[in-house]
Amino acid sequence: MNQHYQNIIQGIFLQIKNEENPGEVASYIPELANIDADQFAVSIKPINEDAHSYGNHQTRFSIQSISKVLLLCLVYKHTGEKIWERVDVEPSGNPFNSLVQLESDNGIPRNPFLNAGAIVVSDMLIDLLEDPKKEFLEFIRDITDSETICYSENVAKSELKIGYRNAALCNFIKSFGNIKNNPDKVLELYSLICSVEMSTVELCNAFTFLANGGKKVSDGKVILTKSQTKRVNAIMQTCGFYDESGEFSFRVGLPGKSGVGGGIVALLPGRYVIAVWSPKLNPKGNSYRGMKFLELFTTATEESIF
Ligand code: GLN
Repeated sequence: MNQHYQNIIQGIFLQIKNEENPGEVASYIPELANIDADQFAVSIKPINEDAHSYGNHQTRFSIQSISKVLLLCLVYKHTGEKIWERVDVEPSGNPFNSLVQLESDNGIPRNPFLNAGAIVVSDMLIDLLEDPKKEFLEFIRDITDSETICYSENVAKSELKIGYRNAALCNFIKSFGNIKNNPDKVLELYSLICSVEMSTVELCNAFTFLANGGKKVSDGKVILTKSQTKRVNAIMQTCGFYDESGEFSFRVGLPGKSGVGGGIVALLPGRYVIAVWSPKLNPKGNSYRGMKFLELFTTATEESIF
């Protein structure tokens, strides 16, 4: 990989690693609290090259809401534009687990990256596929070219046990008719999808097709059309960080997605995918070091989608 990028990444990685690491690990899902909070990894993958990494880049972590992008891609691939009849594409300006807008919006979630939105998309997946758990896993293994990627049943169970808020969202949306299946079944699938574990290298591989006009690089397979790819990237740009989406766009200038496991993935279309992982989160639920790393990275490279 370009030596210039390598030097920039190494410099920022070391700088941030030596600084204070504020924030809190997500503990509302009990199983996520059992993590070494000082782990820190970064991987960058230029489209046609192998990933280049620093830190704990081989360690798999809970990708949580990052999975919502892959879920959206799989359902969008099957439904085409009909998906937007059940979930909108507007930033919410609210936290990821917020209920408030659903009432005035008649049970149509503002976007697919809020919990409410991803719960509706999970409901759609159940109606589209014979065995949604198995086929979602096959899909992410295919786009990542890794046969060993898995769900964490422990994390999924741990989330379901305390998932009163998601249960409220799902039942409330069902009262508007925008959930078709049994809420318990939908929530079980949603939690399982959030429980997927990947390393930063695997995250880069999983998202490469979105930086490559919808095509997998390794075998040229079309996952999404160019137009669909643009749309998914646009939603990441405007909604990928919940009520901090404006801030991420302002500071980093790339489409991206975060998860409460401390991962962030971002991409520059036509160029590269970058993934950062550090479990401590800022008050909006986004990785403190991840946000900082990406801000310093795009500032140093002077490249962004703007
Ligand atoms: N599974 C998590 C939840 O529903 C996902 C949240 C996130 O990563 N922001 O709360």
